[in-house]
Amino acid sequence: MPSYFIHTFGCQSNKSDSERIAGDYAARGYTEARSWKLADEIVINTCAIRESAEQRARHLVFIIAKFFADQGKQKPKIILTGCMVHHGYDQLYKMMPGIDEILPINEVGFNQSAVRKEKTHAWIPISAGCNSFCTYCIVPYSRGREQSRAQDEILTEVRDLAQKGYSEVTLLGQNVNSWGLEKVGIGFRKLLMSHKETFSRENIPDNQSQYLKPKGTPPFVRLLQEISKIDGIEKIRFMTSNPWDFHEELIDEIAKNKKIDRFLHLPIQSGSNSVLYRMNRGYTREDYLNLIERIRAKVPDAVFGSDIIVGFPDETDAEFEDTVDLAKKVGWKVAFVAMYSPRPGTASWRIYTDNIPHTVKKKRWEILDQIINKDNLVIRPKVVK
Ligand code: SF4
Repeated sequence: MPSYFIHTFGCQSNKSDSERIAGDYAARGYTEARSWKLADEIVINTCAIRESAEQRARHLVFIIAKFFADQGKQKPKIILTGCMVHHGYDQLYKMMPGIDEILPINEVGFNQSAVRKEKTHAWIPISAGCNSFCTYCIVPYSRGREQSRAQDEILTEVRDLAQKGYSEVTLLGQNVNSWGLEKVGIGFRKLLMSHKETFSRENIPDNQSQYLKPKGTPPFVRLLQEISKIDGIEKIRFMTSNPWDFHEELIDEIAKNKKIDRFLHLPIQSGSNSVLYRMNRGYTREDYLNLIERIRAKVPDAVFGSDIIVGFPDETDAEFEDTVDLAKKVGWKVAFVAMYSPRPGTASWRIYTDNIPHTVKKKRWEILDQIINKDNLVIRPKVVK
């Protein structure tokens, strides 16, 4: 029987995609090899969020090719997928001569049954891609525009999992709280970010939402309600929800629905309004604090996590201190703090200069990590180099 091995870099969305790629192999009669050294086909599911993540994927391809060359053996087929695919085929084949095939991640699709290692908890993708075009982020380019998965498909998958004994699900997407909403327009932000001269605050809406305000109960709230009705499902988590499209009805649903986990991952990225503007995040620190207060008023046991970038271009000491101040005000339980790394193709890579020295970024990272993550010995995120 032919065999496969999948090496996954990066975030939970990539891990979930890999489960579906494994499902596709299983459906074609492949078995999973214990190591890439024993596989007939190797899939490398890449991450492009930082240069270091891309370097690790390049290094892995090199190591695999060298291993088989040294042994005088035929190299297994190496298939590259994930966020690095946005570089384009020619560039990738040049960058990594060992790869044999490229699989665009949006071709993996939602429908393939996942091969899961966990037995009681499952990751369920409910949307893919993103329309927000935060200036530093590669996701809208690597994963394309946001697409919501059909409700019937999601519910069928969760029902099936519940019958198999799964009791916990985590709904995955770049902006889960905008799931199923009607779009205002597509491409506006991309167009805006393409040209430095058109990048002005006046051109950017006050709210990052790309969607019309829903009439009645927002679709994501209805989805949570439907999943809650499924017998056997006891815990529902979701990530990532963003500060925009976090409707009042969602807060109300969390407050009354005890199946919904109280940990809410709500990325801020910076506590400085001027940095948030340069990041094209479309909200202010005051908007964020207001949202946290509204959630705490209705869900007193809510616990918050966040993502923060330090050393964004031109970040002054005063702007960084605004983030420190916000960290003390909000009291995030955990935060994934990253040092800024320009990603080719993004707006910040085109518009700004990566002008904060590494030593300053590192110092800022340590300060925030110490304030936010000092008690999180188990889940403390690693420093991102
Ligand atoms: S919301 Fe911003 S940071 Fe998140 S995936 Fe979309 S573009 Fe990237």
